Amino acid sequence: MSREKGLPSPFPRKRFGQHFLEPAWVEKLLRAVAPGPEQTFLEIGPGLGALTRPLAARAGRVVAFEIDRDLVSALRDAAPSHLTIVEGDFLQVTAERLRDLLTGDAGGWAERAPFSARARAEDPTRTPIRVVGNLPYNVASPILFKLVELYSGGVPLADATVMLQREVADRLVASPGTRKYGVLSVLIGQTASLHRLFTLPPGAFRPMPKVHSAVVRLRFHAPAPAPTDPAVFRAIVQAIFTRRRKTLANALLAYEAGREPFVPDLLRRADLDGRRRPETFTIAELVRLADAFASVSRRAVL
Ligand code: SAM
Repeated sequence: MSREKGLPSPFPRKRFGQHFLEPAWVEKLLRAVAPGPEQTFLEIGPGLGALTRPLAARAGRVVAFEIDRDLVSALRDAAPSHLTIVEGDFLQVTAERLRDLLTGDAGGWAERAPFSARARAEDPTRTPIRVVGNLPYNVASPILFKLVELYSGGVPLADATVMLQREVADRLVASPGTRKYGVLSVLIGQTASLHRLFTLPPGAFRPMPKVHSAVVRLRFHAPAPAPTDPAVFRAIVQAIFTRRRKTLANALLAYEAGREPFVPDLLRRADLDGRRRPETFTIAELVRLADAFASVSRRAVL
């Protein structure tokens, strides 16, 4: 394994995507986050604590998940009482476990699951959780899906400011009709508004990655529009974008092999032109497609 001069052995660990942020960029990121003394933060991958320490100095509470146990002990040694370092894989955390880690909040949001827009409106005193992370690039997309899953499972996430490989950021913020628009833009964009804040050169990290990076802000909101069956929506989106060079009708035919009469009926119900390519459809149109699919499938089963 290659070692970086100046980093404690045996770091960095490639398998954990360890590229540590240089101090000059920490302040720029924190300015973009603008943490407040009343706010609670969830940090993913604190590493050597480059962000964690200045964040904890400005925030009311920080809970940070780190998978590398050797880093965890060093982080814990220097942690103030309002900083909790959790050793573990963030991808494995459940809404319940996160709730336990974050309880102690005055609003008592932990008692209400699933977290709903109504519950939010009924209890404006509840502290929403803000997320920050220089994400390990090898699992950045799964972490974004995990955040959406936690939000949908009742964790009151307000926003997430995350550092990503620039190529992933491009796919995340892509608009319909563009080459980069796809599964990530649709499935994350359905539950969060997305804004790219700034880009970073490889030299912003140690060791230097081969790629550029970008900081993206996600602001979570209730799915808009909400599909009748979220699992069907996810499956349809994944299926048609893996066949993105086909027309929608042909992509659906390939997905529903052997059920030819089904597809025209489906497109009629969804009021969509099957000659268009998958990447031209907006999130709202794809939800309509999934809802038609769910109702036609139900009818076919009955
Ligand atoms: N925040 C630090 C910084 O900016 O210098 C480190 C960022 S580094 C890109 C990513 C960090 O995430 C590493 O410390 C790595 O060990 C940790 N990590 C990788 N996979 C993880 C996972 N599944 N759950 C929690 N932490 C993870």
